[in-house]
Amino acid sequence: MLSMNCDKIPAMELENYKIYLTLLEERVIKKHFDEQKPYILCRKGCAHCCKNGEFPLSEVEMKYLMFGYEKLKQDKKDAIKKKINNLISQAKENKQPRFRHACPFLFDDICSIYEFRPIICRTHGLMFFVEENGIQKNKIPDCAKIGLNYSSVYDAGKNIISDEMWKKSGIKPLPCAYNLSLKTLTNPEITKELGFVCGKSKPLIEWFIKF
Ligand code: SF4
Repeated sequence: MLSMNCDKIPAMELENYKIYLTLLEERVIKKHFDEQKPYILCRKGCAHCCKNGEFPLSEVEMKYLMFGYEKLKQDKKDAIKKKINNLISQAKENKQPRFRHACPFLFDDICSIYEFRPIICRTHGLMFFVEENGIQKNKIPDCAKIGLNYSSVYDAGKNIISDEMWKKSGIKPLPCAYNLSLKTLTNPEITKELGFVCGKSKPLIEWFIKF
């Protein structure tokens, strides 16, 4: 049994969260992916985003993810548990400020809990922004560096989306950074109308570490 530092998801919270996910997917995420279509090279079988990250998620997302995990076959659950235990050991020895790793739910480049994946996995591939000390910082998907999303307008030398490259590209829509930070998408002001709060957020592995 894989144990996490949060309770099981109650039925009402589960239903409300599922409604929120549907609205988010249909009204926000799909809309942005459609707008940015000329820059998006995401395709089935590409799991670049799942191989090097911290995968932060809120409490309700974690409960939903574990709800999905419980539905998996025992051998898959055992394999995930083994990967998570290895990652916990590595995280405890990690000396870097952040612990980046491959997602333990990924097998042969396929997400084993796809339906139950966290919000950040649903926005992977889009450019978004965060506010740091009142300054807006654009977050360009890592895969721009390997010729994938936004690479047609990505200036690797300056690590920016280049206006000049956009003008030369002939692509009509502007490359846009959206307000898709986890802080925004799990904001209680947004979710409280649906009768739930997302709760605190932390990197995936921290949900499994007992301090
Ligand atoms: S939960 Fe699934 S989609 Fe998200 S990072 Fe892990 S493998 Fe990828």
